[in-house]
Parts: sequence; C-alpha cells; structure tokens
Amino acid sequence: MTTMQSAVLRGPDPMQVESIDLGAPEAGEVLVRVVACGVCHSDLHSINRAKSGPLRTPVILGHEVGGIVEEVGPGVTSVKAGDHVVVAFRPNCGQCYFCLRGDLALCERPDNPDRAATGARPRLHSSGEPVLQGVGVAGYSEYTLMPERGVVKVRDDAPLDVVCLVGCGVTTGVGAAINTAKVHAGSDVAVIGLGGVGLNIVQGARLAGARRIIAVDTVASKGALAAKFGATDFVNAAEGDPVAAVQKIAGGYLDYAFEAIGLGVTVTQAFNMVRRGGTAVVVGVVGQDVTVPGLAFLGEKKLIGSFFGSARPQYDIPRLIDLYMDGKINLDDLVSKRRPLREVNEAFADMETGEVARSVINPRG
Ligand SMILES: [Zn+2]
Ligand SMILES: [Zn+2]
Repeated sequence: MTTMQSAVLRGPDPMQVESIDLGAPEAGEVLVRVVACGVCHSDLHSINRAKSGPLRTPVILGHEVGGIVEEVGPGVTSVKAGDHVVVAFRPNCGQCYFCLRGDLALCERPDNPDRAATGARPRLHSSGEPVLQGVGVAGYSEYTLMPERGVVKVRDDAPLDVVCLVGCGVTTGVGAAINTAKVHAGSDVAVIGLGGVGLNIVQGARLAGARRIIAVDTVASKGALAAKFGATDFVNAAEGDPVAAVQKIAGGYLDYAFEAIGLGVTVTQAFNMVRRGGTAVVVGVVGQDVTVPGLAFLGEKKLIGSFFGSARPQYDIPRLIDLYMDGKINLDDLVSKRRPLREVNEAFADMETGEVARSVINPRG
C-alpha cells in the first residue's frame, strides 16, 4: 500500500489535494510515478458534468501523463521499473471487433479503471472510500496504477514534462490530420479553435505537406501562436463571418476544415467552409445536435468524426516523440505554464480564459 497526494474532485466544488491509498500493482498492472500531467480540455468537461450532476465522484482527473515506472505486477513484460512511459488513457483491449481491425481508438471494451463502472474493483481509496480514476488514469496524483496496455515505453532522453502532452492533445490533433483525415500534400486546410488540440491539428497539417493552413479563433493573440506551429494565415472569428473569410483566402476551394472547439455552430461553419468533395472533421467534443445544409451532400461533402487522432498508442506515441526530438513538430510552445499540484484549480481557470495553450502539473512541485 502506498499513500500519495492527489487532487480529488467531489461534486461541484473545486478539487482538493488529499491523501489517497493505492494498492501494490497486481497481475498485469504497472505503477507509474507521475512526473508531469497536462491539463486537458476534456477534464474541464468532466468538471462541468460534476457541477451539473451526471459525473460519478469522487474521482481523480488528469490523463496526459509522463512518468517513470516504479514497479510492475506479475506477468508484465513490455516495461520494467525505471522505464520512462507516457500513459495511454482508455487502454484498448486488443481483442474486440474494433481492436482486431486496427481501430484501437474505437475499442468497445477499454480497460477503464473507472473500475466500479465496469464491475471491477476500485484501486484507489480515501479512508476506505473508493475513488475513481478518470478515463482510467488519475494523473493529478503522485502515482497512477495502469493496466500494461495503458503505458507506452518512450525514449529516456525526451523531457517527460513536455512529451506528456503526446498522451492526449498532441496525438489527438496531429492524428486527426494525418490518421483520420489523411490530409494530402498541397491541400488547403482550416482549423477552427486554437487550443492545445487545434494547434496540433495545425502542425499535423504542416507535417502532411498542406499548402495553406488557415487558423481560426476569436482570441487575436492566437494568430502569432498558430504561426509557430505552421499556420500560414489567421482569421479572427470575432471580427466577422469566418466562413467567408476562410473561403476568400482559399479562393473558394478549401479541402479540409477541422473543428476543435466542440460547438454545433462551429461544426456547421467547418462544413460550410469546405469545397464540393471536401471534408469537415469534428475533433471537439460536441454535446449537442449539429445542423448542416442537406443539399451540400449532393456535392459529396464529407462530415466525419475523429477520436484520439484514430491513434494506435504503442505505434503513434513513440513516433510523435521522435518527430519532436528531431525538431519536426513543436511541443515546447504548447507548454505555457507549469504549476504544482496545489494549483490545479488555477490551471483550469487559465484554460477557461483561452489565453494558455497548455498548463502542465508537476505533482511534486
Ligand atoms: Zn485529453
Ligand atoms: Zn478492444
């Protein structure tokens, strides 16, 4: 049994740092010492769901983890104590219909130690009370206990407080461009929403060889930031109709538009931006119905979803880290702020203002 400090969410109140008990790793489990955990927008969705009721609590959020293996349980062969790892949230089962056909992001039986929900035994406790691991991770903690398929061994020379972002935002964004949409060289691309995911869609499109990459946001300062990731143009959506502005830049022939905010209205904009035969890709978490003009389907427009960059974590995560170490993608400019665990609520307040790309929590800071 280990006792650790974790930021616990209990209903509508801010997270509080508490002492949490954690069992030793059992068969197939890996105990990871968390070095850094990125603050991702989907955790904000969870916090808002806790405020309105439907989220099960108490829960520890945080799923963008870089860490070092502390101990492994019996039968674990792919990592050992001392290995550097990035956590893959919602670990895939490797056996279901979707896993067998290679669509690992769509796994229908993820080993999700939100375990009480799947009938399995909770592994974290607060004075005997079970505490859930949000999306199977619990990264706002000194340690996390993962199934073996939920950790990916990464090179030792990569800084964990930067490459932790590959655990969610980087893979989601770059993967949406290169895996889901398969952006082709020379194409014209727009990206709506320049948070941690949107900036990675921008650099995914650059990696794929896009010609124009038009970045769209309502915060003017995001234009200069997006340029550091490969954007060629910026449209301030606060200053008028972004559809008309993007089409003007693209000469009416935009090939791909990515929505990275999670609003019905911006999905409609993305769909309306693309040319006949073009593709609008929804990356944001859209909790509402979406309206698009039906006649546009006669022009063979495509509207598609993307989850976790259609990634195969054990394959994609080490490659994205190599691209970063070779200077081919930019992760350093994603990390706007580093904070200790006790400032986790302030990190979420920063994200809500839209002024930071990503904060990273150091649980021992
Ligand atoms: Zn995330
Ligand atoms: Zn599966």
